[in-house]
Amino acid sequence: MSKARTRFAPSPTGYLHIGSLRTALFAYLIAKSLGGKLILRIEDTDVKRQVRGAGEKLIEILDWVGIKFDEGPHIGGKYGPYIQSQRLNIYKKYAKKLLDSGQAYRCFCSTKRLEKMRQDQQAKKLPPRYDRICRDLDEKKIKTKLKNNKKFVIRQKMPLTGEVVAHDELRGDIKFKAEDLEDHVLIKSDGMPTYQFACPVDDYLMGITQVVRGEEWIPSFPKNVLLYQAFDWSLPKFIHLPLILNKEGGKLSKRQGDVAVEDYKAKGYLPEALINFCALLGWHPKGDQEIFTLAELIKEFKIKNMGISPAVFDIEKLDYLNGYYIRQKPLDELVKLAKPYLIDNFEKTADKGRQTIKFVKNVLRLEQERLKRLSDIGELTEFFFTDKIEFPVDLLIWQKMTKKQVKENLQKVSELLEKIPLKHWTDNSIKDAIISYLEAKELKVGEYLWPMRVGLTGRKGSPGPFEVAEVLGKKVCLKRIKEAMEKL
Ligand code: GLU
Repeated sequence: MSKARTRFAPSPTGYLHIGSLRTALFAYLIAKSLGGKLILRIEDTDVKRQVRGAGEKLIEILDWVGIKFDEGPHIGGKYGPYIQSQRLNIYKKYAKKLLDSGQAYRCFCSTKRLEKMRQDQQAKKLPPRYDRICRDLDEKKIKTKLKNNKKFVIRQKMPLTGEVVAHDELRGDIKFKAEDLEDHVLIKSDGMPTYQFACPVDDYLMGITQVVRGEEWIPSFPKNVLLYQAFDWSLPKFIHLPLILNKEGGKLSKRQGDVAVEDYKAKGYLPEALINFCALLGWHPKGDQEIFTLAELIKEFKIKNMGISPAVFDIEKLDYLNGYYIRQKPLDELVKLAKPYLIDNFEKTADKGRQTIKFVKNVLRLEQERLKRLSDIGELTEFFFTDKIEFPVDLLIWQKMTKKQVKENLQKVSELLEKIPLKHWTDNSIKDAIISYLEAKELKVGEYLWPMRVGLTGRKGSPGPFEVAEVLGKKVCLKRIKEAMEKL
């Protein structure tokens, strides 16, 4: 049996939709789990939707996410060109074949006539459908129209009766009534092919064995099947991926910020998390495991574990997975990833020591645990960098303490910190110094550590006071405690 060949066939709209990433991933997993190849084909024949440089952008973001192609416009291959606008002659040739065998026809109807027809149909509450007036034009008439340079589209002749059975790998046979099918357009009047034509022709010529695409393409399915039959081509397998819905059960919001993979990247989602997340939108692994790297997915993935019920896009799940993958990152790598998000913080301090890789590393060591998105790093770690922390004085107060008590306790903390020699300035020795004092005097830990931690961070939540103190350094700690006391 020939090796699996799947394709990802995006239209270059200027960004990669998260649903398209899911499609690309499944096409990849199906190919790779069967030891086959993934092909990239750019479907850019819809001139109205074209965006400059969009093809390159798509390739770039797919590469970032880790989906590697075996053939495509950027790497070539035996079945190219892989950009549809460079294949127009091929579509012309195959459309001619259908015209010659009588399975397609030229339709000379003007836009005006078609509009009027649709209005009449609407008024009569009939489904909008081409009335097939040009289907049986005689040869002579056709010749004259062509001679007069009359514009035409090419339509496929659909069966008038009976039904079309289309087999989906996940859903089984799907039946469509012939009477519901329109003689749809294969080639538009500007010579461009429609999706319904270019896609099956390319899938066939590129040797695609499994067509993997979203469920929204099921209405095209019978047309595709009939086209294969018209050419007498054997059909590939079809796998329609389930819809992706939001938590309320509606369609994913069209707002680009919610669907563009580029925006998820900018917000600091890692490719590993996006891949893991998308894999679970339609694939149901056996057992409880839900963390899968791309390599593990290839190993574990089986078509038979795919489902057809709509997948729910749960951003909290994505955050959870992202947090997981951030925690897995070696510190050096995390520093590199985090740097672009720390630029603003670097500007908040005149202290060069806090603009170094070493300092960033120490900060991230503490925050790695709590980080969900890289873009949160700036806000989360701002207090480490800034020369001036701002916070309401009341935050310093632990439970029912008075301001005076808080001030006295901070004074004590300051004295204890002062005594620690610089070379012993580590979280453990800071902890020892303070805790042993509190224990010896039988004092309440919270009444000292809360004001100390707030004084150092200005935050309700942060890593522990000793770790923060170590990273900030003795000088900054003493200064901050002093400033906190001045507030009281
Ligand atoms: N060009 C279509 C799209 O971007 C591809 C659909 C398919 O995969 O067949 O949605």
